[in-house]
Amino acid sequence: MAIDPQFTENRAQVDTHKGHDVWGPVEEPEKLGVHGTHVAVDFDICLADGACLEDCPVDVFEWVETPDHPESERKADPANETQCIDCMLCVDVCPVDAIDVDAGRA
Ligand code: SF4
Repeated sequence: MAIDPQFTENRAQVDTHKGHDVWGPVEEPEKLGVHGTHVAVDFDICLADGACLEDCPVDVFEWVETPDHPESERKADPANETQCIDCMLCVDVCPVDAIDVDAGRA
């Protein structure tokens, strides 16, 4: 299952985290929702592969610890999404299609 590119219509913004939006539902620790809006990561799909952290040319992503989440115990958080230059590398390298980037969303 890939991230839903229509998440802003199909989910509600329930929180903010390090300056970016969090789209629910969130029921910690098992359900963490989507982090970010311009650069969005579905935390419930992310399995902490790390390719996005390695490949992003402007270091948008930072690890965040998510103990007891069923997929992985850390996630690639789009902590610096405002720096994104829309190269789409992260979208291409994510092995589970957990990331969606859309400059029209902000
Ligand atoms: S689209 Fe490019 S610049 Fe933006 S977060 Fe992904 S890898 Fe980084």
